[in-house]
Amino acid sequence: MSKFSDTSDFATELEQRERDILLAQHKANAEPRLQPTGRCYNCELEISRGLFCCKDCQEEWDFIKKMEKHR
Ligand SMILES: [Zn+2]
Repeated sequence: MSKFSDTSDFATELEQRERDILLAQHKANAEPRLQPTGRCYNCELEISRGLFCCKDCQEEWDFIKKMEKHR
């Protein structure tokens, strides 16, 4: 029986490694670096610099992004 268990361990390890790679890729894709566009990412108000017009908008945006991830 040891032959079978070795085979399944090997398969599990491969599967685990594959999952790690996918997870790493997913993380890299999920968090692209936001570029300032001249508008608030949350409410689209025109701003001279940064990504958000105010702290509230940044927090709301973070909250929305977190909710999307948990879906
Ligand atoms: Zn805003």
